[in-house]
Amino acid sequence: MSNTAELLLQLQGIDYQLGELERSKGYLPDMIENLNSEIGNAEEEFLQTKQKRDEDILAKSELEGSIAQASLALEKLKTQMTTIKTNREYDAISTEIDHKKQEIQQMEDELLTVMAELEDLDAKIEDVQSRSEEIAKINDEQLKAIQSEMDSVGTKIKIKENERKNILVRLDSLVVSTYERIKRGKGSVVVAVRKRACSGCFKALPPQLVQEIRRGERLITCDSCGRILYWEGDD
Ligand SMILES: [Zn+2]
Repeated sequence: MSNTAELLLQLQGIDYQLGELERSKGYLPDMIENLNSEIGNAEEEFLQTKQKRDEDILAKSELEGSIAQASLALEKLKTQMTTIKTNREYDAISTEIDHKKQEIQQMEDELLTVMAELEDLDAKIEDVQSRSEEIAKINDEQLKAIQSEMDSVGTKIKIKENERKNILVRLDSLVVSTYERIKRGKGSVVVAVRKRACSGCFKALPPQLVQEIRRGERLITCDSCGRILYWEGDD
């Protein structure tokens, strides 16, 4: 491979790395945001489960209190029943007793629903909590790594830019401008000859051109895609 092709390949490698570094400035903040929102969602799920459980515990004790109160009232009515003197009084207290019993029944049904839900939440809450803690732990580690990557992006770009300058001074300015012109439109600027074709666009190359590329005496670009061609030797 000619010295020029060698340098252009190095330049291409550096430009690729520079591109990646520039791109990372865009996607690293997105990654941070995603990791943070994952932590937030898991935490939120735990807090909501905990809140629901607390509400159920409160509802349970309130229902138990109300049932106890209503049961006392029922007992009082039953006692009253033993001292009634008229049919009208009997009917009135009977109706009241029926109402009280219905009321108690309704509250007991409600209590059963709350207790069943509470049982589910008791079983679930530990899982939700440990999952939330695990996500926080894993994501925090990733966040630290990403943060330090973000902190070093600027330095890495400076290093690569210096390497780039050192290569540019060793290249002919015409070669550099050809490289820059092709780079604007395409991914790879410098590509190898493979199976007697340009490995960038796969167009077959005339045998004499392949020989010329092999000799590496001058810079040869592909007629079809404009990429700079070099001989890798594994054709
Ligand atoms: Zn081509």
